[in-house]
Amino acid sequence: MTTSTSEKTLELIAPLSGVIVPIDQVPDPVFAGKMVGDGLAIDPIGQALTAPCDGVISTLHPAHHAITITADSGAEILMHIGLDTVMLKGDGFIPLVTEGQTVKAGEPLIDFDVDKIARNARSLLTMLLVTNPEDFGPLQVASGETIRAKDVILTAGEGSSSAIAESELSGETLTSDWISLPNPVGLHARPSATLVALSKQYKSKISLATRTASASARSVVALLSLNTKKGDEVQLEATGSDAKSAIEALSQAIRDGLGEDCSTEAPKPTAVELPEEESLLAVKSDDPNLLLGVAASPGSAIGVVVQLSETTFEFDETATDVQQQQANLTQAVLNSLADLDALKAEMSQKGDAEKAEIFQAHRELLEDPELQQQAKTLTENNKSAAYAFNMAIEGQMSVLRQLDNPVLAGRVTDLEDVRNRVMRKLLGLPNETLELPEQAIIIARDLTPSMTASLDPKKVVGFATTEGGSSSHSAILARGMGIPAVAGIDRTAQTLEEGSKVILDGDAGHLHINISDDEINTIKARQAQAQQQHDIDLAAADQPAATTDSHRMEVVANIANLNDAQKSVSLGGEGVGLLRSEFLFLDRATAPDEDEQAEVYSSIVKALDGRPIIIRTLDVGGDKPLDYMPMPAEENPFLGERGIRIGLNRPSILKTQVRAILRAGKGSTSKVRIMFPMIATLEELRAAKEVVRQEALDLGVSNYEVGIMVEVPSTAVMAEQFAQEADFFSVGSNDLTQYTLAMDRGHPKLAAQVDGLHPSVLRLIQLTVEGAHKAGKWVGVCGGIASDPQAVPLLIGLGIDELSVSVPALPAIKGQIRELSLTECQNLAQQAVQASTAAEVRTISRGR
Ligand code: PEP
Ligand code: MG
Repeated sequence: MTTSTSEKTLELIAPLSGVIVPIDQVPDPVFAGKMVGDGLAIDPIGQALTAPCDGVISTLHPAHHAITITADSGAEILMHIGLDTVMLKGDGFIPLVTEGQTVKAGEPLIDFDVDKIARNARSLLTMLLVTNPEDFGPLQVASGETIRAKDVILTAGEGSSSAIAESELSGETLTSDWISLPNPVGLHARPSATLVALSKQYKSKISLATRTASASARSVVALLSLNTKKGDEVQLEATGSDAKSAIEALSQAIRDGLGEDCSTEAPKPTAVELPEEESLLAVKSDDPNLLLGVAASPGSAIGVVVQLSETTFEFDETATDVQQQQANLTQAVLNSLADLDALKAEMSQKGDAEKAEIFQAHRELLEDPELQQQAKTLTENNKSAAYAFNMAIEGQMSVLRQLDNPVLAGRVTDLEDVRNRVMRKLLGLPNETLELPEQAIIIARDLTPSMTASLDPKKVVGFATTEGGSSSHSAILARGMGIPAVAGIDRTAQTLEEGSKVILDGDAGHLHINISDDEINTIKARQAQAQQQHDIDLAAADQPAATTDSHRMEVVANIANLNDAQKSVSLGGEGVGLLRSEFLFLDRATAPDEDEQAEVYSSIVKALDGRPIIIRTLDVGGDKPLDYMPMPAEENPFLGERGIRIGLNRPSILKTQVRAILRAGKGSTSKVRIMFPMIATLEELRAAKEVVRQEALDLGVSNYEVGIMVEVPSTAVMAEQFAQEADFFSVGSNDLTQYTLAMDRGHPKLAAQVDGLHPSVLRLIQLTVEGAHKAGKWVGVCGGIASDPQAVPLLIGLGIDELSVSVPALPAIKGQIRELSLTECQNLAQQAVQASTAAEVRTISRGR
């Protein structure tokens, strides 16, 4: 294969005096692995960096420790003073040039304070790198000598070191139009992998450029390093005999999203690799045998601890048999690719497309030519295959970690997974399959996709991870596997003895440790007792719920569809306190029309057989967009066009829904009420009510009721005024809590603190009840706390009239009410509103 195609030559002079250090000996995998470019390092003697050639300053890093020059020859030259000097934030560096300035070889660029840098940074080594070496012939680099500034230290002849045949490059060079990236988070691992796979189908040399950088379209990591975002403009360049067809096909593929569904919202960033630190607010339990975390996947399990520790590998750094090391490396990569193919096929066969895709992405990461070339180059310098591969992939991981992009930083776990697989092959270790005992409860920092896929679900009864939250990768997988899980568990969990018995409570987010056999028996007995109580509650589900002192509570259901309505009736629901009408609007191409809505609402009303129902109007918004209702992205979707605000800003949607609800109620034996979500001001209520008045008039309906969700603090505080104009209230404690505490209800790090039993929320509920009752109106609660046994006595004590609970909880909540007395509940509620923290409130409730 011939490689020479270019006419370019290159000559660089030393930008400072010092001792030359080969690039692969720089103690930083990013530089040593030539991930940034090829060249050399200098241990400096002087303290002025000068231009190594004539050219234009293309970038000057804001921290002034790194600078690039576009040489007249077309070479991109990067100079980077010291290691980890970005941390100095410019302290100790004086730039003498600006971006765009033309400079001559030898002209001063940056002055730096050697003493300061030596004291505060990891190293003074200064890198001189050609970041586009493929445009030149092999680089000739001076080595092992002391040089003086302006000595010639790097040359490159004509030609290209690219592995693509000259015949292929003899064709024309074509570029595409600038294409705006449709991918929600830019070119992250999966679309990059798709682009790489497509590029490999062509013989041409293909690159992808942004407005500021360019990368080989055959390297996933190089593409990731472009750090693109949605809407960034990119341009393809192809040189070779099939350049035209490559440009056409790849441009279209990029426009189509490279296999990614770009119509949906950006995926929420997954776990980011950050140094481990414990939050000052980490909730520690007073009970040494109770470890606290966040509920990640529901259910509870009794089992034995299996610790999944971090994988560490031991290997020699150097080896003399270069060819043998390279053969080992090739074989390990081939075997790993075969493993990944087998895993992918197995997952596809099981119908688990998501996991199959993960293994395909791993395949692409491993096939990355840059990764393989870096490892090979290291073996040529007498490094062992294991050291070389580990170093090369660590370099890629470190590049991703440094990007200002949490999604890509999260992909480090995938590279880690690939690294472990290949390293095991190289070191002759068996694959990462776990011999698990029965009833295993896995404790780990986090679970890699491969680990999770290889776990036998018949043996694993629970996971507890010290990292992540309810939306982390492992939590999602656990939920998909129907296994209880706790995330963000107290780190003490990692010190638990292998095989020790524990109880994992995925609902509360707890891990009970040091459980004796007796305690297990007690808990099993308690579970049996709970089952017995459940049977009793179920048998009495049809009976009304009243306290021991005859205070009647209405217990109704939160439902989302007809099926829920039918179930609620069979479990003793006395009606529906909240129909989340969103189900009718989501996952479809057009909005349901009035007839369709009326039909669905009527079928639900019919299933309730005379029981009352509250239908809440559409509650979607910036955080839950509808495909057919494009809305601009919002900085703070929870504070944006959400809930009733959508209906008021797009009255046709509200009118249609109101008409459908009124029609469903017309002539029905059930009371059909309308409720508006997220009401924050009286103007909103008045405008929405006016829509109902007009449509009712038009339909000849006169006996309708209109209520509001109380889920914004302003509405609770002004309940007295709202009660003059609304027929009833229903407290949406999920949102009321998030808006009162200013904590996103789905935030993995805050989840443990977003507790609806916080005294501030209880005080707002108290205000709501007082305001409503003064005007003779009633108040329900339809947020999550209505189904929380610790909240029920407090809500009754605060004067709540109706509890709207999740369907499965209906019999138990009714059963619980029958055990309580109103006087006791009122006492507890008074104590609770005086408490200082949610934890105190829970203690008060538990202690009853
Ligand atoms: C609430 O906010 O408590 C509520 C019931 O509404 P949703 O959970 O649907 O926002
Ligand atoms: Mg809500």
